[in-house]
Amino acid sequence: MGYDPASMIAVYAATGDEWDDTLADCERHILPLLREHQVRLVQVARTGPFESDGIVVLDDSRSPTRLHKAGPWRLSDELRTTGTVPMVAQGRRTCSIKFKESVIDRFIAADLQGRPYRHVLGFNAEEGMRVLRDQTYTPLTRAPEYPLIEWGYGRAECLALLRERFGITWRKSYCAQCPFPGNIGGLPQHLERLRTFPERAAEVLMLEHSALALNPNSRLFGATTLHGHVMADRNTEALTAFRRAQAAGTWSVYRVQRIIWAGGDENTKGPAWRSVRTVGVADTRAGAV
Ligand code: SF4
Repeated sequence: MGYDPASMIAVYAATGDEWDDTLADCERHILPLLREHQVRLVQVARTGPFESDGIVVLDDSRSPTRLHKAGPWRLSDELRTTGTVPMVAQGRRTCSIKFKESVIDRFIAADLQGRPYRHVLGFNAEEGMRVLRDQTYTPLTRAPEYPLIEWGYGRAECLALLRERFGITWRKSYCAQCPFPGNIGGLPQHLERLRTFPERAAEVLMLEHSALALNPNSRLFGATTLHGHVMADRNTEALTAFRRAQAAGTWSVYRVQRIIWAGGDENTKGPAWRSVRTVGVADTRAGAV
């Protein structure tokens, strides 16, 4: 299998919520390689919440110097507006589909206009489930390839290679509000990152706080809350920033109505619809009750 750099397109979908250290590592170590080999890097993002809003190309260059952190509409904008946290529906992560897959697919459709292409994905040898999920979606023009799996590279081998090449321990790439263990790795590493970036931790605590206010089942980690983990971790900087953000914001009273449709049998739930209306806004929590 060979790859001609001149005919390669690397596509990066900016969710708007990537960790700053990951972006900095990519700018320091990956962009120089792309420039050296004249690989075309296209940076894309959603323009708004609706499919009709389309996508925007933030940068399209064979000599990129910076990575865009965000486009006009970030995943956290969507979660803040809808009062939700990242979710799984029918076994698929809706945030990833909306902010990565669909954005990249729309760019590919516009750029390649139906020409066949080889789609190279960096799933490692321990990510068989992701490969199975990816293969449920294979239009005729797309030929998926998974080189790390062909080479037998698991996460440890990839990290060792990156350490040897760049002299650093490469940190995981994911959104600060991601709750999925496959993305964030172990909880201790995630909590350590939240200690490194307490302001980001506070933003995620705010997202979870709003989601829980509208639905007490919206704990970020399903059975447990991020707030509980941050408290247990004694991350006082994050908790202080969270309380500061709460004090600086407005408080609202909402009317929440839900319809949960019946599922296929008596043990399963069908789709859930929710209506949220604001019935009052105040500067303080006491004033909003
Ligand atoms: S990193 Fe996590 S939160 Fe971000 S898009 Fe992927 S699954 Fe969703």
